[in-house]
Amino acid sequence: MNNSGNIRNFVIISHIDHGKSTLADRFLEITKTVDARQMKAQFLDSLESERERGITIKMAPVRMVYGDYILNMIDTPGHSDFSYEVSRALVAVEGAILLVDITQGIQAQTLAKFYSAKKAGLKIIGAVNKVDLISDEGQLNRRVKDLADLIGCEPKEIHPTHKQVMCGIHKISGKTGQGIEELLKAIIKEIPNPKKLSGNENLARALIFDLFYDDHKGIIASVRVFGGEFNVNEEAYLIAADEKFKMKEVGYFLPQLKPIGKLSAGEIGYIATGLKNPDRIKIGDTIITNHKSQITNHKSLALSGYDEPKPVVFVSFYPENSNQYDDLKKAFGRLKLNDSSLKFEADFNEVLGRGFKVGFLGKLHFEITAERLEKEFDIKTINSFPSVAYKVNNLIIDNPADLPDDIKEILEPMINLEIISPGGHLGDILQLKEIFRMENITTNNLGAEGIILITAKMPLAELISNFDDRLKSVSEGFASFNYELANYQKAELEKMEILIANAPVAGLVRIVPKKRLEYEARKMVEKLKDVLPRQQFTQAIQAVAGGRIIARETISAMKKDVAGYLYGGDRSRKMKLWKKQKKGKKKLLSRSLGTQVRIPAEVFKKIIQ
Ligand code: GDP
Ligand code: MG
Repeated sequence: MNNSGNIRNFVIISHIDHGKSTLADRFLEITKTVDARQMKAQFLDSLESERERGITIKMAPVRMVYGDYILNMIDTPGHSDFSYEVSRALVAVEGAILLVDITQGIQAQTLAKFYSAKKAGLKIIGAVNKVDLISDEGQLNRRVKDLADLIGCEPKEIHPTHKQVMCGIHKISGKTGQGIEELLKAIIKEIPNPKKLSGNENLARALIFDLFYDDHKGIIASVRVFGGEFNVNEEAYLIAADEKFKMKEVGYFLPQLKPIGKLSAGEIGYIATGLKNPDRIKIGDTIITNHKSQITNHKSLALSGYDEPKPVVFVSFYPENSNQYDDLKKAFGRLKLNDSSLKFEADFNEVLGRGFKVGFLGKLHFEITAERLEKEFDIKTINSFPSVAYKVNNLIIDNPADLPDDIKEILEPMINLEIISPGGHLGDILQLKEIFRMENITTNNLGAEGIILITAKMPLAELISNFDDRLKSVSEGFASFNYELANYQKAELEKMEILIANAPVAGLVRIVPKKRLEYEARKMVEKLKDVLPRQQFTQAIQAVAGGRIIARETISAMKKDVAGYLYGGDRSRKMKLWKKQKKGKKKLLSRSLGTQVRIPAEVFKKIIQ
């Protein structure tokens, strides 16, 4: 049954938390892909960070069989930091289910995901989810209409005896299972057969949309086959990497790896390359089965891959244990395999030692990566403040420490921001204007439910401060946002340094708006006073900018509680520290320290938060 006429490839897309992974669970059940005993909520969220946070970070492909049909589904993340994941999944499929949580309505990522699916030319099937939570028929129908208006099709009758259903928008509940089987049938009926490439149809070609590492099988590529066949043990060739390999294993995602020996046109599956070096092979590369010497002009066979994603947030990572530098390097290499948006290069800091400067697509992307290093690779790191890249005299500077003290002109990256919110919160949201330096604000009504679309220009640096939290809290959780990078713009900024006992503390240099300099300086020294372990000697904490002391605090020598900064009741660890204290103090005196301050890793983490 491997003719591509009975294959349907689709993604599930939506705003975060609208129920994609839960819907995927129901599909896995109906198609008996996952054994009932093994079933658990959000089955496809398999990373530890995903399960703990209850969010999807990595796309997850899975092959299901339903009647005579093969359904290849890809569950995707909803957060904007991971939209590069989604964009890659879109190229591997022909259709998309666009979900809207009926209690929330259309949100910022609903729009963003819809437009990217449309741009990718996918057949879009709309569904309102969580209908078990709404008893108000009127509200339900208004939200259905909003989605129908977005997808842009005429209302139509789905069933003569049922009520009119707009545009075939499905009303479903991932929780109770209502409407799910009908949705599955619609996928088969409405999503087209796998697209065929014109010309060279029988040449074996597969696009790599993801990569991961296996200790035994080496680098494994997640692929969409666009033509021909890929058989295990045969030779294959990576066009961009210019590398030959033997296919060690070929198979499907169930969602675990299931070797089957052959992948054919239209299918989604994996190819184990046996290659070990993650530097060579990249997401977006094309695999063909004939070696280049057998085909003239083999480069022309490359499927159109992906744009290189541009990192916009930069953070330096140093291993807490400096012996783990090489492990950290290896871990970044592995993470980069299936997160090609990650960019890293060697970095050095006087206090923290050797590390890496890493570029991310957003703040959540950074937080998740730090967490994955700890959970999946057992490496604890100390990180600098997240920073954006500034332009000074046409030089790009992405580490605040590299900025000259006396800045004449500085440009910062701006974003075009889109906020979607119920109208009732408009006033509160507009109050964020000053704090987050928003400009060019416009507001527009959107849809029947009194939803407002607010657009504005804002510095990217503001977005990575605590914009998310503030927006969520002023709108009681209802507002959502999306953004895209805009131009560089001149700004009034200053470089702020922290001195402890007159010595600068590496990693605490920041760029802050002139207007907020005093506020930020005060906040910083007070926080430091709070979280720094009591020193054995009186120490001054100062925030300095442009050669002036902006704020100052003093840590007194009163208490000798070196363990005070450790949170949690880790008694044995504290005991160890108290024991060490005696020794340590002697050492301190003999080295007459106090000229440079080493902030304990735990404290550093608290300050950065
Ligand atoms: P995702 O971020 O889009 O993958 O959303 P999840 O599938 O992780 O679901 C987010 C939350 O909504 C979870 O707490 C789910 O249990 C809940 N949820 C999902 N679908 C439904 C539904 O149909 N009804 C109700 N009541 N809750 C749902
Ligand atoms: Mg999910």
